[in-house]
Amino acid sequence: MADNSIPSDGVEGFLPGWEMVVGLEVHCELKTKTKLFCGCANSFGQEPNTNICPVCLGLPGSLPVINEQAVELAIRIGLSLNCTVDKSIFHRKNYFYPDMPKDYQVSQYEKAINENGILELPLSKKTVRIERAHIEEDTGKSVHVGGDGGRIHGADHSLVDYNRAGIPLVEIVSAPDLRSAEEAREYVTELRSILVASAASDGKMEEGSLRVDANVSVRRQGSEEFGTRCEIKNLNSLRSLTRAIGYEARRQVALIEAGERVVQQTRHWNEDQGITSAMRSKEEAYDYRYFPEPDLVPLEPSTEWISEIRTHIGLLPAARRERLTALFSDVSSGPVYDQIVTAVGLGLDDLVVGAAENGADPRLALARATNEVASDIGNLPRLTIEKFSDLIKLESQSKLSATQAKTVLGKMLESGADAAGVAKSLGFEALDSTVIEDLVDQVIGSSPKEWERFSSGEDQLAGFFVGQVMKLSKGKADGKIVTSLLRSKRS
Ligand code: ADP
Ligand code: MG
Ligand code: ZN
Repeated sequence: MADNSIPSDGVEGFLPGWEMVVGLEVHCELKTKTKLFCGCANSFGQEPNTNICPVCLGLPGSLPVINEQAVELAIRIGLSLNCTVDKSIFHRKNYFYPDMPKDYQVSQYEKAINENGILELPLSKKTVRIERAHIEEDTGKSVHVGGDGGRIHGADHSLVDYNRAGIPLVEIVSAPDLRSAEEAREYVTELRSILVASAASDGKMEEGSLRVDANVSVRRQGSEEFGTRCEIKNLNSLRSLTRAIGYEARRQVALIEAGERVVQQTRHWNEDQGITSAMRSKEEAYDYRYFPEPDLVPLEPSTEWISEIRTHIGLLPAARRERLTALFSDVSSGPVYDQIVTAVGLGLDDLVVGAAENGADPRLALARATNEVASDIGNLPRLTIEKFSDLIKLESQSKLSATQAKTVLGKMLESGADAAGVAKSLGFEALDSTVIEDLVDQVIGSSPKEWERFSSGEDQLAGFFVGQVMKLSKGKADGKIVTSLLRSKRS
């Protein structure tokens, strides 16, 4: 196999003359109180096999009852993705595998509750079609002990935890519209923001509430026909997603260029080795023997209910970006727009909008949010809009230098304290302008040659003087004041 010789870094660009085609299937756990067909709690991280009942274990004689809240959240997802929401039916997807105690999974097959939507990518400004977003139940979880990287192959024995069996999922299936690993990453990022904004899911990839299967094929640039695809299962971070797609597309190109052909397969991503490997081929694919679930009636949400659900959807990312964009004049691309996309993607936009409403400078607020706050996002709950606004104001009034403001913000995130208190405890009191002027005079006196050159028009030496004053003041002097003092002393 050519497998090991192919670099897996391939995120940026792609092999010349080739194009990759990607379609994603994203499984998202819904944020309901209970499971899809029973009263067991929808929770994560409990002792194995403690959150189960006859229904989710599929014991004989038990009957499913559809969870209304799950249907509502599924409809929220459909509406947020501009899908048509309509009558749907449940099917049984039959397979014999120990993680599914019933030996079938209840899913939607012919007619999904949400169909034909779109998702707009904010950075590449591309529209991705959504084929469907259907409801299904999650399976239990197998743990393979001993052997290779948790895989069943070579394991000593396997354990199974049914806590996850019956957790409500929506599977969102994109059309094969994505053309790079970067676009796939952007799609998942935006989709996750939409799911979180509509409060349908917590979108936590690291806890498995968002799991992605990537279908990848390649074709020669300019070709209209799709190549044979492989499906990489269960990618549970953005990093895995982009690496796996980059690797897989290169593997396929290498195969074709070597005169071989791509075999349609389900493949497994090995994070440590950075490669995909075959799980099963199409010939070994399960025959799921789908048939309509006899224990559940079709779902027929009324138009009234659908309209009401629409009013429960929060502000979606696109609207959130517009709200931020409106704080600036004319940003539809460029670094500020990128920061806007980042802020919304990380859920920092309320902070910035709130600060602006409190009279803080929006550009500075956006910058501090997408840099300092973003790098310590776990502590975001400690930072109130008021405290953040105060910090931004101290900085724009030059009561804190940029360096000081960053340090203060870092401490505020750690402790939840307010800006003025932290600044004081760090000794970051604003330097009086007469003190700054003294320092400027000192530096001018000790660097006569540089001063001469600056005075005769070598403007780039301003940086040298500002740096010297900063050093003397231990970062407390305000750069803007220093610069204006230098200019006034020169003339
Ligand atoms: P299946 O029913 O076997 O899962 P689908 O037609 O539903 O197949 O497609 C599943 C996913 O595969 C979709 O996200 C779709 O966009 C994607 N897909 C289909 N054909 C290709 C292809 N040639 N290359 C890449 N992705 C593809
Ligand atoms: Mg599929
Ligand atoms: Zn149950």
